[in-house]
Amino acid sequence: MNERDRLGTAEQICTTAGVLPAHPGVDLEQLAKQLGVKEIRLSAMGEDGRVSTDHRGDVRIQIRHDLPSERKHFTIAHEIGHVLLSMPGEVQLRFRAASRTRNDEERLCDAIAGCLLMPTEWVRTLVPRESVSLAALLTIRQECHVSLTAAAVRLRQVTGRTFTAITAIRDQGFWRSPIIIGNERSRQLNWTRSAVALLENADRSPQRAVINLMVHRTPRAFPAEVAQDKLGAIVLLDGIEFSHLAGRESVR
Ligand SMILES: [Zn+2]
Repeated sequence: MNERDRLGTAEQICTTAGVLPAHPGVDLEQLAKQLGVKEIRLSAMGEDGRVSTDHRGDVRIQIRHDLPSERKHFTIAHEIGHVLLSMPGEVQLRFRAASRTRNDEERLCDAIAGCLLMPTEWVRTLVPRESVSLAALLTIRQECHVSLTAAAVRLRQVTGRTFTAITAIRDQGFWRSPIIIGNERSRQLNWTRSAVALLENADRSPQRAVINLMVHRTPRAFPAEVAQDKLGAIVLLDGIEFSHLAGRESVR
């Protein structure tokens, strides 16, 4: 199942159940209750979340108690995805017939969580020309109370646009190596001295700049947006796939 189909299926499931919100800030407790969930309980457990049904048929959502609050929020929405998916319905049947693996279901539940927490139409209003901006990314994180990763995944899903978001963490006066959101191959990437100067002078509101990054030890210039953030700064490279930073793809 490709990304577009997944988003379409997630939206259909939410629409059919009458739970597709128009604005962020949906009350997940209320929504779960509406779907027949008896309670959402915090538990000491290994996985992030779980849906269980007891012998009386009561459905409960358990969430790992020590997750960061954004992740807790997303996990509840994800588990609600499983509840929606277990309900009878044509879209559910079609999905079950087409899905091959457990991973298909997990990714669909992530997409449902995305639809519930970061409503598609609302996200679209943030990106009028289907082009991403750092302001849009930060607004989604803030208004929807999700992690930067969840916001980036959703923005990519809704716009179909390629971009790379990089977190810069300032630690005791030094800038740690760049962290590419959603990619563990950040090691190929490093700051240059001029990039550090940009990070140092980053403003709270996103500013356009050309940033020089070391990619595989070669300095390369990228058009970017840079903004100050809680732990340091955030850099957004629009139109650039992160695998390109590992030297594999060309700039679109
Ligand atoms: Zn799951």
